[in-house]
Amino acid sequence: MSGAESAAAAEAMHALDSRMLAFADAALSYSLDRVRLDPPPLDDTSTLSELVATVGDTVRSGPRDPLEVFALFTEHLAPACISVDHPLFLSFVPGAPTEASVLFDLVVSASNIYGGSWLEGAGAVYAENQALRWLADLAGLPPSAGGVFVAGGTAGNLSALVAARSRWRRRAGGSMDRVRPIVVASAGAHSSVVQATRVMDADVVDLPTDERRRAPGRPVAEVVAALSDEDRRRVCAVVATAGTTNLGVIDDLTACADLAAALDTWFHVDGAYGAAALCAQSARPLFVGIERADSLIVDPHKWLFAPYDCCALVYRDTLEARLAHTQHAEYLEVLDQDGSGADEGWNPADLAHHLSRRARGLPFWFSLAVHGTDAYAAAMERTLEVSRFAADEIRRSDHVELVVEPALSILVFRRLGWATADYERWSARMLEEGRAFVVPTSHDGETVLRACIVNPRTSEAHMSDLIESLR
Ligand SMILES: *Cc1c(COP(=O)(O)O)cnc(C)c1O
Repeated sequence: MSGAESAAAAEAMHALDSRMLAFADAALSYSLDRVRLDPPPLDDTSTLSELVATVGDTVRSGPRDPLEVFALFTEHLAPACISVDHPLFLSFVPGAPTEASVLFDLVVSASNIYGGSWLEGAGAVYAENQALRWLADLAGLPPSAGGVFVAGGTAGNLSALVAARSRWRRRAGGSMDRVRPIVVASAGAHSSVVQATRVMDADVVDLPTDERRRAPGRPVAEVVAALSDEDRRRVCAVVATAGTTNLGVIDDLTACADLAAALDTWFHVDGAYGAAALCAQSARPLFVGIERADSLIVDPHKWLFAPYDCCALVYRDTLEARLAHTQHAEYLEVLDQDGSGADEGWNPADLAHHLSRRARGLPFWFSLAVHGTDAYAAAMERTLEVSRFAADEIRRSDHVELVVEPALSILVFRRLGWATADYERWSARMLEEGRAFVVPTSHDGETVLRACIVNPRTSEAHMSDLIESLR
């Protein structure tokens, strides 16, 4: 390319020319149509060879018409992604973002706000913090509480535990600097907790659970006594789960907080899935003890009607998080705050393991401000109501039975007389027919079904049909 040619090519890359404007229309109307679909098609997954055959190589040295590339997405790529917001997507933990949150996500994308520092993103951080405050208030945390939106529960758990370890080492005044920390967590804890301990080179001590799979299954004094003196000093955090991913079990948060207090250590609550239900009056009593957390997480992209990716990480005291996570570099010094009463908020970058960040809490904030928190409580109650209905329907039916009593909106149940292959065949057929996406899980080595309801559009009729389809 000549100098003039490369200048023209560079210019074209940031130009809103007629072709790009045509794409703008297509992008906006596609987005609006996608939001309007009720329900969206379930769609399906795809194999690599199918996509190689239908889509092929897309990236070339020269330009392509944006509408032509967009058609690859609308015709081949998007249909090869299962719709998480379909009312019968009940596998894993789905999501059901509100129209307001999805549309505002477009605005956030167009604005490309840097959400890492107060200096650069004050307006966005201010709004995100109000959404975080709502969550902190629901949990009963003090005014000192604050936090940040990170990509997911995995990032949230790691960042919280790194802050816990930092406080543990600091308090030990150097004596623990070369000692491996211990994280105490129940076997029902999410895989990301164990993953975090691997990253941190920490050991995990399993917290026993009771017959309902709640931790701690034994009196706190016994759990403490089971640890050696040396191990007791190595504990940097106790992790409780407020809604386990496989069974939906909520640990005894008061007893877990007592355990953390007895060990004089950090108390972290992983509520990535379940803590969303704090906004429902009917579920609140299950969470007693959460107000004693040093940190907690909840994923609005799961059960708080926000799009990916969005995990709220809230600390009792942001100071501990800042001491652990603030990055220091010559070019970052201008962002440092001394906490001497300056009229500024904190830098979100300083509260987790990251620096650059999208203002990913804004879609959640916008929807919360538009609909009001009462609407969130009502939508949450609706999902709980349908979950209770489905549990009753399973109790009433003679071909299925509950494996554990549901606490929130996860139903674990078996089809009497079925083996693993039967569950797999049924699950594959339901997806193929575009009816439902429900994959089996296992419980004590037995293949069983698991349905997680987070979508207010999932109805009683949907659940009856699903249970009938298992006959
Ligand atoms: C989903 C989940 C996580 C992980 O969250 P991601 O957002 O998927 O990283 C952690 N803990 C629990 C209890 C979860 O349900």
